[in-house]
Amino acid sequence: MRPAQALIDLEALRHNYRLARQLGGGKALAIVKADAYGHGAVSCARALQDEADGFGVACIEEALELRQAGIRGPILLMEGFFDAAELPLIVEHDLWTVVSSLWQLEAVEAFKTDATLRIWLKLDSGMHRLGLSPEEFRDAHARLSVLPNVGPLVMMSHLARADELGSNRTHEQLEVFNRAIDGLEGETSLCNSPALLGWPDVRSDWVRPGLMLYGADPLYPQSSPHAAQLRPVMTLQSRVIAVRELAVGEPLGYGARFVADKPTRVGVVAMGYADGYPQFAPNGTPVLIDGVPGQLIGRVSMDMLTVDLTDHPQAARGSIVQLWGSAPTISELAPRCNTSAYRLPCSLKRTPRVYISG
Ligand SMILES: *Cc1c(COP(=O)(O)O)cnc(C)c1O
Repeated sequence: MRPAQALIDLEALRHNYRLARQLGGGKALAIVKADAYGHGAVSCARALQDEADGFGVACIEEALELRQAGIRGPILLMEGFFDAAELPLIVEHDLWTVVSSLWQLEAVEAFKTDATLRIWLKLDSGMHRLGLSPEEFRDAHARLSVLPNVGPLVMMSHLARADELGSNRTHEQLEVFNRAIDGLEGETSLCNSPALLGWPDVRSDWVRPGLMLYGADPLYPQSSPHAAQLRPVMTLQSRVIAVRELAVGEPLGYGARFVADKPTRVGVVAMGYADGYPQFAPNGTPVLIDGVPGQLIGRVSMDMLTVDLTDHPQAARGSIVQLWGSAPTISELAPRCNTSAYRLPCSLKRTPRVYISG
């Protein structure tokens, strides 16, 4: 069997959830959109089910996958519904929905139901992606508040630059938010992972941690006092499947991206870009070889990559090579490969996930 595996540590996931909730000081929606950032939404939601205040997903398809797997409790559609025809399903499956556009507001007003809709009303406080302007927001709040089939509203917004500790944009957005909600009834929701880790003065009744649940630090390489408490959830690993010796001047792999300038011992590892490992990881990208720091050499191919075993005399066919996890962390790895910590685990493909300590 191919030795590539993504180990998913569910105890680490629970630990990170508790940290996020504690930093937020209120309720925390565990964000499990995009298949839990590649970690497997159903398994992650099951692992958190007993303690999470609710879950956040991007669309009704993701919500229904969780419900069909028996996940109970609140599930919020963070982009709302894409079509008014989703409203009966939202009621049937007891989902919560964001309302961020006027057409969604009108669809809610026109929708007849005996059930109570739980709505998170979204303000555009400066990200300029989804959300109502402050004037529209106050008007929508008033219109929703008089509907008998709409429960207490949660007032939310999303932060565009909370991962930049030197930017004043987060405080500007906070000010716009506070002004827009002034005097209105309802709980608030503002914080994503970078806000929880980097902006202790930005808080809300509900927080929405995503990336940090999976143990990655969105602020890296800026320092944050809490990042060290995060525990990586995914360990991507495989094994050396062949070993060879290169003489001086011999090239390695596609495009001769590495040429030996000294006698070099090479390990071929069963892991490639079709598994989600970054194709353009450069020579020297860190890996762990049987727990010892080592380096990638040569171009990453679809199913294999190569590592330098010259300084790893004990390593042999069968040695375990860790591509990300405790080291290198996805936060460290991402900038070296011109990608983001968000994208690395989301790119996972083909490699089976193996759940541990569930
Ligand atoms: C994805 C998402 C989050 C989580 O963001 P992280 O940076 O991963 O913590 C929170 N809120 C909304 C609306 C999102 O779309």
